[in-house]
Amino acid sequence: MIVDESIARPIAASEAHTIEADVAIVGAGLAGSLARAVLVRAGYRVVLIDKRTVPPDEFRVEKIGGRQLDLIRQLGFINDLEAVGAPYNRVLNIRDGKVVDISVGQAFGLSYASLVGMARGLLSDPTSFLIDQVTGISCSDDRQQLELASGKRVTSRLVILATGMASPLAYSLGIKRRMLAERHSVSFGFTIARPDNAPFEFDALTAYGERTADGVDYLSLFPIADGMRANLFMFRDPTDPIMRELRRDTKRTLLRLMPGLQRYLGDFDVVGQVQSWVMDLSVVEGHLQPGVVLIGDAFQTNCPAAGTGVSRLLVDVERLCTDHVPRWLETEGMGADKIAQFYSDQGKLAADRHSLDMARFRQALTLNNDARWSARRKLHFLRRMITHRVDRIHPGWVTRVRGALR
Ligand SMILES: Cc1cc2nc3c(=O)[nH]c(=O)nc-3n(C[C@H](O)[C@H](O)[C@H](O)COP(=O)(O)OP(=O)(O)OC[C@H]3O[C@@H](n4cnc5c(N)ncnc54)[C@H](O)[C@@H]3O)c2cc1C
Repeated sequence: MIVDESIARPIAASEAHTIEADVAIVGAGLAGSLARAVLVRAGYRVVLIDKRTVPPDEFRVEKIGGRQLDLIRQLGFINDLEAVGAPYNRVLNIRDGKVVDISVGQAFGLSYASLVGMARGLLSDPTSFLIDQVTGISCSDDRQQLELASGKRVTSRLVILATGMASPLAYSLGIKRRMLAERHSVSFGFTIARPDNAPFEFDALTAYGERTADGVDYLSLFPIADGMRANLFMFRDPTDPIMRELRRDTKRTLLRLMPGLQRYLGDFDVVGQVQSWVMDLSVVEGHLQPGVVLIGDAFQTNCPAAGTGVSRLLVDVERLCTDHVPRWLETEGMGADKIAQFYSDQGKLAADRHSLDMARFRQALTLNNDARWSARRKLHFLRRMITHRVDRIHPGWVTRVRGALR
């Protein structure tokens, strides 16, 4: 992207003992790095701090598509994403070995480390990015202070905490996490390949769970730079022996859970490490305080199966950094009255609510066996299969009817 050098004023952060900035951002994951890029582009003096030099190879979001792309485009970073992601635009959706439908739409597969690396590199200015651990924080209506492990200090008008799911720093301010659903879901991430490295016969594939008792929501297969990535999302007790089997004997366990997959995958191997993650759903409380604001996972966690974590954090970044922060910095002070405007922003509230609604919906659609949900599940897939078949016989007809009914 094109940077207007005249408005991006870097601060000489790395040598000074006390660093002054308009905004200090703690955490250079996706949320913090994007927030920095938006604020730097607008001409603010920003310092971004992360304890890790290189984004670790952790299992987080690995594909970006749909509304997430619209939001990234809106923020002006779509070309940067396109440069690092593996593109695909057709997803074959199957259940029980049968085609449900085909989704069409631009998407990109990439490791979380590459995504964060891309975001950290936006409007890159090494002097405003500190590799250090923030060990202390104190906030007020006016200036905020951060203490770093190296002994340096940062003072700023506003602190953005983008510290991810576990944040002792927020806790030290009396901000606690309220558990909404403990051990809500389990996710697995791994890479598969054909023995001869031949390509698979699909760009991307989603296989939905075949029996509610298995607790499998879906398996998503999509390209990344070095192969075909698999994300398996389940709602099941993380201590169930099947979790161990999935980690140790991934291929066999997967095909036992989803026998319908075999004919679409042919012969394949699981290559490299199998990563897994147990997700608690939680949201912060006690967060309305002067001088500090929480975004991304630091504010609320998300169900990976619902795929809402990135759109939530993008809404946080867009609302906070293009609307609220510029207005807050126009006038003196950074009292809780200003901070409250972000937490009551209608766009943010809607994104947070949607994320929790989707988490509950995916869990119920996967597991719930009462008459209402059984009927709903059948109808959900039947409607998609019928629409797909009609569309194959009369291309464009369904879209026209939907448009006329709107
Ligand atoms: C297994 C899994 C799968 C997922 N799949 C999807 C998906 O398919 N779709 C989707 O939309 N979302 C998904 N998500 C959610 C998504 O990955 C997260 O919402 C997103 O990565 C959160 O980014 P963040 O920047 O808020 O936090 P993080 O990326 O965790 O960044 C926090 C940063 O803060 C730094 N930090 C913390 N404390 C300090 C300190 N004291 N000093 C300095 N630095 C500090 C850390 O080093 C880290 O770099 C998934 C999550 C998981 C766990």
